[in-house]
Amino acid sequence: MPEGHTIHRLARDLRRDLGRQQLQVQSPQGRFAAESQLLDGDFLQGTDAWGKHLFLRWKSGRLVHIHLGLYGKFRRHKTPPPEPRPTVRLRLWGRDRCWDLVGPNRCELLSEEGEAELLQRLGPDPLRADADVDQVWQRIHKSRVCIGGLLLNQAVIAGVGNVYRAEVLFDQRIAPETRGCDLSREQFLGIWERLCEWLQIGVRYNRIITAEPEQVGRSRGRMRRKERLQCYGHAACTECGTEIECWELANRKMYACPVCQAGGHPVGT
Ligand SMILES: [Zn+2]
Repeated sequence: MPEGHTIHRLARDLRRDLGRQQLQVQSPQGRFAAESQLLDGDFLQGTDAWGKHLFLRWKSGRLVHIHLGLYGKFRRHKTPPPEPRPTVRLRLWGRDRCWDLVGPNRCELLSEEGEAELLQRLGPDPLRADADVDQVWQRIHKSRVCIGGLLLNQAVIAGVGNVYRAEVLFDQRIAPETRGCDLSREQFLGIWERLCEWLQIGVRYNRIITAEPEQVGRSRGRMRRKERLQCYGHAACTECGTEIECWELANRKMYACPVCQAGGHPVGT
């Protein structure tokens, strides 16, 4: 499942390629056909993202909401594009570029009320300038759920997935089982600031990078896959050499060092 940086990067790339122009809109697969007909010839005014949700805003006032889910993907072509695959839900055809969307979890027209309802279910997004950090703190501070679960809850904080979750808890030396209410405000701010910084790096490089260039001895752009992360997917702790523990937490794989992140013990191990 893509994390928030992927969706914000998509919003940016779509805006650069297709923004401020009139687009041909099609649904070769047919499942977005009626909506595509309404949008065909409309002018794409802007794009933005909130957590894992992507929004395309049109001059007509219409709003397309896309959630990629596990399988959704965009493909980018030069114009004229190749014949669309039969699985293309949405084709956006502009002056120089054409983008195809396949396999999204959601691709729908959203009314103003629909948008408000959706946003109400989402917590603040660290990548948005308007993110209300205090709201996130209040939710975490009042919760008896563990921080490893809270970080994946899109209603608490939007855009964080299981890679950033494992990385930030390792970075801040916090046991994933620590309850929200047992975290200090300082610990929380450490998590938040790291997430803000890393998500922005994620947008810039279009991938998750949490390792520091000085640690690795290579710039972020030149790091190899294994070098980009500090803990997630690692066998041994980069800090102390202890075996990294891996278990299911809130239905996703959690990785943590039992020594560096002491203070709680993984459930089920
Ligand atoms: Zn360690």
